[in-house]
Amino acid sequence: MTADQLSIAGWRGMIHLYEAGVLRRYVFRHWQALEASQWYTPGQLQALQFERLRRLLLHAQAKSPWYRDTWRARGLDLRTLAAPGDFHRWPIIDRETIRTHRMAMRSTAAGTRLIHKATGGSSGVPLHFDLDHGSNDWRMGAWHRGYRWGGAEPGTRQWYLWGVAPTSASAWRKRKDRLYDALYRRTTASCFALGTATVDRFLASLVRTRPHAIVAYTNAIYEFARMLEARGLVPPSPRSIVVGAERLHDYQRETIERVFRSPVFETYGSREFMLIGAECDRHAGLHLTHENLLVELVDDDGLPVQPGTEGNVVVTDLMNFGMPFIRYANGDRAIAAPAGCSCGRGLPLLETVTGRRLDILTTPDGRSLPGEFFPHILKDLPAIDRYQVVQERADTIAIRIVAPAWTPADEAWLRREVTAVAGTAIHLDVERVSQIALTAAGKLQVVVNRLASSQRERA
Ligand SMILES: [Zn+2]
Repeated sequence: MTADQLSIAGWRGMIHLYEAGVLRRYVFRHWQALEASQWYTPGQLQALQFERLRRLLLHAQAKSPWYRDTWRARGLDLRTLAAPGDFHRWPIIDRETIRTHRMAMRSTAAGTRLIHKATGGSSGVPLHFDLDHGSNDWRMGAWHRGYRWGGAEPGTRQWYLWGVAPTSASAWRKRKDRLYDALYRRTTASCFALGTATVDRFLASLVRTRPHAIVAYTNAIYEFARMLEARGLVPPSPRSIVVGAERLHDYQRETIERVFRSPVFETYGSREFMLIGAECDRHAGLHLTHENLLVELVDDDGLPVQPGTEGNVVVTDLMNFGMPFIRYANGDRAIAAPAGCSCGRGLPLLETVTGRRLDILTTPDGRSLPGEFFPHILKDLPAIDRYQVVQERADTIAIRIVAPAWTPADEAWLRREVTAVAGTAIHLDVERVSQIALTAAGKLQVVVNRLASSQRERA
């Protein structure tokens, strides 16, 4: 039997053997457990979550010196944690807390083996953190479950358009990565290399791969779709497209679905927690990874907001005992859905992730422009290939554009549209540039508020 004749289930079986037998990981066992628990009732899931929360907090109080001391100083006692609502009294932490206290947050339990990770973040200052092996297996299980909803589970042939930077890894490590990719049936194209000069090469790779699913950074697959459409090129149609790493706007979903003729599944995740939420085939919002993560939406005082109201995303990782994340505000803003999903899963839904707090720009006369304002205006200017909006000073917003065919009429239209909302107290700098670099992770930062990050650093 040739490789192609093996069914998706056959490949999945081989991946299972490799994960359990060679890597000695519990990824598939946890994935199976999560496939079952997604159908629990909301009440059962809440009970499961609360039990896991208590277990984590007891562990942190006993084994994580920073949490123990911080809670004690605030007079917090786990014996008073009787219901989920009591948890609102526990302090919220952020990147800065972890940057300062990482070592004292780590578990002192004997035999704890940690995996070290880092994330870039919009301020450019990396965040280093740790997780234990057991929680890594759980998050990989949750990743497989969420990607299965989007038709991209292990065993399917997948074409990745992803932020793959040139690596300095050892030859042994590279060989291992190649084996892993082959087993997981992944072909990866780097979004760093995507451009007008390479669009044919990317299309050829996609045609060769004939994937069941495309898995992509949102902005990269959107740019690729626009480039294909502008050239009249028709790509093969996968069964589904899973997007992540960057916020998905409705107009982007429409364009991607039109060009590839297949449904888009949005996902929401981060380096700190991997998959936080993902869409099922009802596309009614993002089902939370509720068994592993306690996701709260709170106002600036740390109190819960109602479904339908935007709040700060605060995450507790119920599985990471190595370096606990307890009430970690990741800087994102989101809205919870008021009701469950018609698919019948008990996992609650996020209606939408609205963006990063840092993406909000401000004007001297006190207006604030949400992060989605510029993407929605600039999408209507076909001359713009790529753009970035940067605020470095209180009185100026710089709009950098890659637009070879830019006309004075385009500029006049853009200035009129922005001024209508932003007012006249803010100065607009429209700069034409030849390239806008991606972040180290391959993401396109469309709106950058340097003012907010420098204020934060001073504070
Ligand atoms: Zn659903």
